[in-house]
Amino acid sequence: MLMNEQIKINIEKIRTQIKEAEIKAGRKAGSVKLLAVSKFHPVEAVYDAIAAGQMDFGENRVQEACSKFPEVFQKFPEAKLHIIGQLQTNKVKKAVEIASMIESVDRIELVKEIEKQCARLEKKIEILLEFHTGEESKSGFKTEESLEETLEYISSGNAPHIIPRGFMTMAPFTDDEEKIRKSFSIMKQTAEKMQARFKNFNLDELSMGMTHDFEIAIQEGSTEVRVGTAIFGQRI
Ligand SMILES: *Cc1c(COP(=O)(O)O)cnc(C)c1O
Repeated sequence: MLMNEQIKINIEKIRTQIKEAEIKAGRKAGSVKLLAVSKFHPVEAVYDAIAAGQMDFGENRVQEACSKFPEVFQKFPEAKLHIIGQLQTNKVKKAVEIASMIESVDRIELVKEIEKQCARLEKKIEILLEFHTGEESKSGFKTEESLEETLEYISSGNAPHIIPRGFMTMAPFTDDEEKIRKSFSIMKQTAEKMQARFKNFNLDELSMGMTHDFEIAIQEGSTEVRVGTAIFGQRI
């Protein structure tokens, strides 16, 4: 298998762009992590990214993740996988086996199922709560009350295997920069509110920003950008 030099070039370019965005936003160097979203790309593309020093990956679908990542982990135990796509309850068992973080927790029932499966495995897992901040209908908790209810549930000791680390959001698909910015800034404000309320958790992770809007997300406080297309090219 030939090494796809382009993936390495793309990753280096994005790392530079992240650094520049951190400086521009007056943020500490290295405060934004890059998650490489490898969905719809073959496992060889994952290896090309690893060869460029990229160890953190995101996948949308559990089934696809399970077809690629077990062999990746065997060769590179330090690689990490985050599940970022909408998660059906019946996929949770597989998801918690393979992932170190689930970013797309969007309902309290999912928390209960993750807890159940993690207890079975005696494994702890980090989660992000996905919050709906865009205009069009998308996944994610729709209200602050529902976020609070879920954090309260975990905080009360009902889910000892779950470590809430923060929040994830997707901005609306638009070229309107102000709309995108507003979506990220709502997320940041909501996250700060939740952190003030739940001081027993460390809710400092904000997963926001994709290929088209990660620089805006960094200005608005993102700590992790999820980039697919700009690394691996168009999805087929
Ligand atoms: C596909 C996907 C991404 C990456 O999108 P790109 O535009 O290709 O960078 C990020 N986050 C989520 C939740 C996704 O589904």
